[in-house]
Amino acid sequence: MNRTFNFNAGPAALPETVLLEAQKDLLNYQGTGMSVMELSHRSKEYEEIHNGASKKLRKLMNISDDYEVLFLQGGASLQFSMVPMNLLTEDTVGYYVLTGVWSEKALEEAKKLGNTAVLSSSKDENYRRIPSLDLNQIAENAAYLHITSNNTIFGTQWNSFPEQLKVPLIADMSSDILSAPININQFDMVYAGAQKNLGPSGVTVVIMKNHLFERSENSLPTMLNYETHRKNNSLFNTPPTFSIYLLKLVLDWVEDQGGIEGLAEKNDKKARLLYHVIDESSGFYKGHAHLDSRSKMNVTFTLPTEEMTKDFLNQAKEDGFVGLDGHRSVGGCRASIYNAVPLEHVAKLAEFMEQFKRGY
Ligand code: PMP
Repeated sequence: MNRTFNFNAGPAALPETVLLEAQKDLLNYQGTGMSVMELSHRSKEYEEIHNGASKKLRKLMNISDDYEVLFLQGGASLQFSMVPMNLLTEDTVGYYVLTGVWSEKALEEAKKLGNTAVLSSSKDENYRRIPSLDLNQIAENAAYLHITSNNTIFGTQWNSFPEQLKVPLIADMSSDILSAPININQFDMVYAGAQKNLGPSGVTVVIMKNHLFERSENSLPTMLNYETHRKNNSLFNTPPTFSIYLLKLVLDWVEDQGGIEGLAEKNDKKARLLYHVIDESSGFYKGHAHLDSRSKMNVTFTLPTEEMTKDFLNQAKEDGFVGLDGHRSVGGCRASIYNAVPLEHVAKLAEFMEQFKRGY
């Protein structure tokens, strides 16, 4: 099959077996005579998909009954607003750690809705690293602490999370959910747009501790109130059925890969391949992220000159590598190597990088 080497940052590569399975269900889902996209969201068949996805995610991530799993729309970006709308009250403060563009955006939305504070930021260093935190700086009246676990644009990632926090910890895990084991009990809320590690765009997964739902005021717009979606099992209105169906297939695939542990092992290998080329290139390739904050999902690097970067990207395109242009705020190159990007594709890219360097 003529599949490309896809290093897109999101929407991104999906497992080929998942796509093939979806292809089968496209015209006639399990003998219903209907496409999976044509099923009613109130049908028995769809209910199985919907509840199956939620159950599988709980199993893979070890999520207890203390948490609710929601499937929402509006992308991770809507969570930037829903979090403060629901969880930030007049006399409390939302704390943010700034580690890149997405955490800045989350903070901007919260500022429109209530009191905020920046606990720590690495903006001064062009977000090359995850900054250190002084948890004592968090005031008594903190509503929550918000972090971005993986910074898609800058290519940095937290490798441990604050422990024994006295306030709820909320993490935007859009670009690294399911990439390595985490202890979900360290978090009160996790959210992620699906289009990197979970499936196609269109669904946002929210995992939230039961006690947080009590904060949502009745006066909130119905659709923007977490409690609405909790009460209705994320079926208050029509959910993105096809995205949730694909999410379910991706979760089955994750299980087949040896679960999150199995994927983490592969992700380690993939990241090591690329960072090895960067580190052994005598400065030809320069990683953007500081060594202690390197992301295993988005590998960001530059070449000695703009001209060479252009040349690199052009030649990469010709050789079938897609999505390697860095985000405009960092420049250079970025290889997104999410769960579904095969090790062989990453090995090919590493080889290409070696070859390109030798050509100079
Ligand atoms: N947070 C992170 C870490 C992201 O990488 C992205 C998208 N690239 C977003 C939030 C925004 O997600 P969405 O497009 O689903 O709103």
